[in-house]
Amino acid sequence: MKWLVVLILLKPFFALACQPNEIHIREQWIEGYTKENGTYVSAHPRSEHCREIRGHRYFQDSNTEEIKGLKTKFKAWTDKEKSLLQTEIENLPNWLKRYKLSKMLRANEEIGNPNNPAMTIPATKTLIIFDKFFSTSKIRGVMVHEIAHIAAWDIDPIILKSFFLARDWKYQEAGKIISPAKTLISDSKLSPSEDFANSVELYYSDRQRLKNFNLKSFQILKEIIKTKESNK
Ligand SMILES: [Zn+2]
Repeated sequence: MKWLVVLILLKPFFALACQPNEIHIREQWIEGYTKENGTYVSAHPRSEHCREIRGHRYFQDSNTEEIKGLKTKFKAWTDKEKSLLQTEIENLPNWLKRYKLSKMLRANEEIGNPNNPAMTIPATKTLIIFDKFFSTSKIRGVMVHEIAHIAAWDIDPIILKSFFLARDWKYQEAGKIISPAKTLISDSKLSPSEDFANSVELYYSDRQRLKNFNLKSFQILKEIIKTKESNK
Protein backbone atom coordinates (compact mmCIF):
# COMPACT_ATOMS: atom_id res chain seq x y z
CA MET A 1 0.00 0.00 0.00
CA LYS A 2 2.52 2.60 1.12
CA TRP A 3 4.72 1.91 -1.80
CA LEU A 4 5.38 3.50 -5.11
CA VAL A 5 3.94 0.99 -7.50
CA VAL A 6 3.94 2.62 -10.87
CA LEU A 7 4.23 6.30 -11.49
CA ILE A 8 1.31 7.30 -13.62
CA LEU A 9 2.62 9.41 -16.43
CA LEU A 10 -0.72 9.12 -18.21
CA LYS A 11 1.12 7.85 -21.25
CA PRO A 12 0.18 4.21 -20.70
CA PHE A 13 -3.48 5.16 -20.98
CA PHE A 14 -3.04 6.60 -24.41
CA ALA A 15 -0.76 3.82 -25.52
CA LEU A 16 -2.89 0.86 -24.62
CA ALA A 17 -5.75 0.52 -22.18
CA CYS A 18 -6.61 -3.12 -21.52
CA GLN A 19 -10.02 -4.34 -20.45
CA PRO A 20 -10.69 -5.28 -16.81
CA ASN A 21 -10.19 -8.95 -17.69
CA GLU A 22 -6.97 -8.44 -19.64
CA ILE A 23 -3.34 -7.86 -18.82
CA HIS A 24 -0.87 -5.75 -20.71
CA ILE A 25 1.92 -7.56 -22.54
CA ARG A 26 4.94 -5.54 -23.60
CA GLU A 27 6.46 -5.87 -27.04
CA GLN A 28 8.16 -9.24 -27.23
CA TRP A 29 10.42 -11.13 -29.60
CA ILE A 30 8.97 -14.37 -30.97
CA GLU A 31 11.55 -16.94 -32.07
CA GLY A 32 10.99 -18.79 -35.33
CA TYR A 33 8.86 -21.93 -35.03
CA THR A 34 7.12 -24.58 -37.15
CA LYS A 35 3.33 -24.80 -37.02
CA GLU A 36 1.54 -28.14 -36.73
CA ASN A 37 0.74 -28.08 -40.45
CA GLY A 38 4.45 -27.75 -41.25
CA THR A 39 4.61 -24.09 -42.20
CA TYR A 40 7.52 -22.22 -40.76
CA VAL A 41 7.00 -18.89 -39.05
CA SER A 42 10.18 -16.87 -38.95
CA ALA A 43 11.27 -14.88 -35.89
CA HIS A 44 9.46 -11.57 -35.52
CA PRO A 45 8.67 -8.91 -32.94
CA ARG A 46 5.15 -9.00 -31.54
CA SER A 47 3.89 -5.54 -30.71
CA GLU A 48 2.43 -4.75 -27.30
CA HIS A 49 -1.05 -6.14 -26.79
CA CYS A 50 -3.66 -7.10 -24.23
CA ARG A 51 -4.16 -10.71 -23.24
CA GLU A 52 -7.25 -12.11 -21.58
CA ILE A 53 -6.73 -13.49 -18.10
CA ARG A 54 -7.72 -17.10 -17.88
CA GLY A 55 -8.11 -18.88 -14.57
CA HIS A 56 -8.35 -15.56 -12.81
CA ARG A 57 -7.82 -14.87 -9.11
CA TYR A 58 -5.70 -17.85 -8.54
CA PHE A 59 -3.38 -18.30 -5.64
CA GLN A 60 0.27 -19.09 -6.21
CA ASP A 61 2.49 -20.50 -3.49
CA SER A 62 5.74 -19.29 -5.02
CA ASN A 63 6.84 -16.62 -7.43
CA THR A 64 8.47 -17.32 -10.77
CA GLU A 65 8.79 -13.80 -12.14
CA GLU A 66 11.23 -11.20 -10.92
CA ILE A 67 9.54 -8.18 -9.38
CA LYS A 68 11.72 -5.14 -9.76
CA GLY A 69 12.65 -3.35 -6.57
CA LEU A 70 10.82 -5.75 -4.26
CA LYS A 71 12.72 -7.55 -1.51
CA THR A 72 10.72 -10.25 0.22
CA LYS A 73 10.35 -13.99 0.65
CA PHE A 74 7.37 -15.69 -0.96
CA LYS A 75 5.56 -18.57 0.70
CA ALA A 76 2.51 -20.81 0.46
CA TRP A 77 -1.04 -19.69 1.24
CA THR A 78 -3.01 -21.33 4.01
CA ASP A 79 -6.63 -22.35 3.34
CA LYS A 80 -7.83 -19.84 5.92
CA GLU A 81 -5.98 -17.00 4.19
CA LYS A 82 -7.34 -18.03 0.80
CA SER A 83 -10.91 -18.04 2.00
CA LEU A 84 -10.44 -14.63 3.67
CA LEU A 85 -9.10 -13.19 0.41
CA GLN A 86 -11.94 -14.70 -1.59
CA THR A 87 -14.48 -13.16 0.76
CA GLU A 88 -12.77 -9.77 0.58
CA ILE A 89 -12.81 -9.85 -3.23
CA GLU A 90 -16.50 -10.76 -3.20
CA ASN A 91 -17.17 -7.80 -0.89
CA LEU A 92 -15.47 -5.23 -3.10
CA PRO A 93 -17.63 -2.51 -4.66
CA ASN A 94 -19.02 -3.85 -7.97
CA TRP A 95 -16.90 -1.74 -10.31
CA LEU A 96 -13.69 -2.84 -8.57
CA LYS A 97 -14.77 -6.45 -8.48
CA ARG A 98 -14.68 -6.49 -12.28
CA TYR A 99 -10.90 -6.09 -12.33
CA LYS A 100 -9.72 -9.64 -12.40
CA LEU A 101 -6.39 -10.42 -10.84
CA SER A 102 -4.05 -12.66 -12.79
CA LYS A 103 -2.34 -13.97 -9.68
CA MET A 104 -2.13 -13.55 -5.95
CA LEU A 105 1.14 -14.08 -4.15
CA ARG A 106 1.82 -14.48 -0.44
CA ALA A 107 4.98 -13.05 1.12
CA ASN A 108 6.50 -12.54 4.58
CA GLU A 109 7.07 -8.80 4.65
CA GLU A 110 8.44 -6.17 2.37
CA ILE A 111 12.04 -5.70 3.52
CA GLY A 112 12.58 -2.01 4.22
CA ASN A 113 8.84 -1.38 4.46
CA PRO A 114 7.56 -3.83 7.10
CA ASN A 115 4.26 -2.04 7.65
CA ASN A 116 3.15 -2.51 4.07
CA PRO A 117 0.14 -4.86 4.05
CA ALA A 118 -0.04 -5.41 0.28
CA MET A 119 1.10 -4.24 -3.11
CA THR A 120 -0.11 -4.41 -6.68
CA ILE A 121 1.55 -4.54 -10.05
CA PRO A 122 -1.14 -2.99 -12.26
CA ALA A 123 0.26 -4.03 -15.67
CA THR A 124 0.26 -7.72 -14.81
CA LYS A 125 -2.65 -7.50 -12.33
CA THR A 126 -0.61 -9.20 -9.64
CA LEU A 127 -1.54 -8.75 -6.00
CA ILE A 128 1.00 -9.47 -3.27
CA ILE A 129 -0.23 -9.97 0.28
CA PHE A 130 2.28 -9.54 3.13
CA ASP A 131 1.99 -10.85 6.72
CA LYS A 132 1.01 -7.38 7.90
CA PHE A 133 -2.24 -7.59 5.89
CA PHE A 134 -3.71 -10.08 8.36
CA SER A 135 -3.13 -7.86 11.41
CA THR A 136 -4.38 -4.62 9.93
CA SER A 137 -7.71 -3.34 11.19
CA LYS A 138 -8.74 -2.13 7.74
CA ILE A 139 -8.46 -5.11 5.44
CA ARG A 140 -11.35 -3.90 3.30
CA GLY A 141 -9.66 -0.52 2.84
CA VAL A 142 -6.42 -2.22 1.78
CA MET A 143 -8.25 -4.32 -0.82
CA VAL A 144 -10.12 -1.31 -2.22
CA HIS A 145 -6.83 0.60 -2.34
CA GLU A 146 -4.93 -2.14 -4.18
CA ILE A 147 -7.58 -2.78 -6.81
CA ALA A 148 -7.91 0.99 -7.32
CA HIS A 149 -4.26 0.96 -8.48
CA ILE A 150 -5.35 -1.42 -11.24
CA ALA A 151 -8.57 0.46 -12.03
CA ALA A 152 -6.60 3.70 -12.50
CA TRP A 153 -5.28 2.27 -15.75
CA ASP A 154 -8.77 1.87 -17.10
CA ILE A 155 -10.15 5.37 -16.58
CA ASP A 156 -10.62 7.92 -19.33
CA PRO A 157 -7.20 9.66 -19.34
CA ILE A 158 -8.66 13.15 -19.80
CA ILE A 159 -11.00 12.75 -16.82
CA LEU A 160 -8.28 11.16 -14.72
CA LYS A 161 -5.93 14.01 -15.54
CA SER A 162 -8.59 16.53 -14.49
CA PHE A 163 -8.73 14.74 -11.13
CA PHE A 164 -4.97 15.07 -10.71
CA LEU A 165 -4.97 18.71 -11.81
CA ALA A 166 -7.72 19.45 -9.27
CA ARG A 167 -5.43 17.89 -6.68
CA ASP A 168 -2.68 20.27 -7.80
CA TRP A 169 -0.35 17.75 -9.44
CA LYS A 170 1.80 19.61 -11.97
CA TYR A 171 2.73 17.96 -15.26
CA GLN A 172 5.83 19.35 -16.87
CA GLU A 173 7.48 18.66 -20.17
CA ALA A 174 9.64 15.55 -20.49
CA GLY A 175 7.30 13.60 -18.24
CA LYS A 176 8.30 15.33 -14.99
CA ILE A 177 5.56 15.41 -12.37
CA ILE A 178 5.56 17.72 -9.34
CA SER A 179 3.59 16.60 -6.30
CA PRO A 180 1.15 18.97 -4.55
CA ALA A 181 2.29 20.89 -1.46
CA LYS A 182 -0.62 19.47 0.52
CA THR A 183 -1.90 15.93 0.10
CA LEU A 184 -4.70 13.89 1.56
CA ILE A 185 -2.35 11.37 3.23
CA SER A 186 1.43 11.82 3.40
CA ASP A 187 2.22 8.94 1.04
CA SER A 188 -0.14 10.38 -1.59
CA LYS A 189 2.87 12.52 -2.50
CA LEU A 190 4.65 9.43 -3.85
CA SER A 191 2.76 9.40 -7.13
CA PRO A 192 -0.57 10.29 -8.73
CA SER A 193 -1.36 6.56 -8.62
CA GLU A 194 -0.91 6.53 -4.83
CA ASP A 195 -3.00 9.67 -4.47
CA PHE A 196 -5.78 8.09 -6.54
CA ALA A 197 -5.72 4.77 -4.64
CA ASN A 198 -5.81 6.59 -1.28
CA SER A 199 -8.76 8.64 -2.49
CA VAL A 200 -10.77 5.63 -3.62
CA GLU A 201 -9.99 3.96 -0.29
CA LEU A 202 -11.29 7.00 1.60
CA TYR A 203 -14.33 7.25 -0.69
CA TYR A 204 -15.55 4.04 0.92
CA SER A 205 -14.33 4.65 4.46
CA ASP A 206 -14.57 8.39 5.17
CA ARG A 207 -16.33 10.16 2.31
CA GLN A 208 -16.81 13.36 4.27
CA ARG A 209 -13.08 13.76 4.87
CA LEU A 210 -12.44 13.29 1.16
CA LYS A 211 -15.08 15.89 0.33
CA ASN A 212 -13.73 18.39 2.86
CA PHE A 213 -10.19 17.99 1.59
CA ASN A 214 -10.96 19.06 -1.96
CA LEU A 215 -14.49 19.36 -3.27
CA LYS A 216 -13.66 19.54 -6.98
CA SER A 217 -11.56 16.37 -7.03
CA PHE A 218 -14.21 14.65 -4.89
CA GLN A 219 -16.88 15.43 -7.48
CA ILE A 220 -14.67 14.17 -10.32
CA LEU A 221 -13.98 10.95 -8.44
CA LYS A 222 -17.66 10.52 -7.63
CA GLU A 223 -18.46 10.89 -11.34
CA ILE A 224 -15.71 8.39 -12.31
CA ILE A 225 -17.12 5.82 -9.88
CA LYS A 226 -20.71 6.48 -10.94
CA THR A 227 -19.81 5.93 -14.61
CA LYS A 228 -17.89 2.75 -13.81
CA GLU A 229 -20.72 1.42 -11.63
CA SER A 230 -23.26 1.97 -14.43
CA ASN A 231 -21.10 0.17 -17.04
CA LYS A 232 -22.32 -3.31 -16.44
ZN1 LIG B 1 -0.77 2.05 -2.93
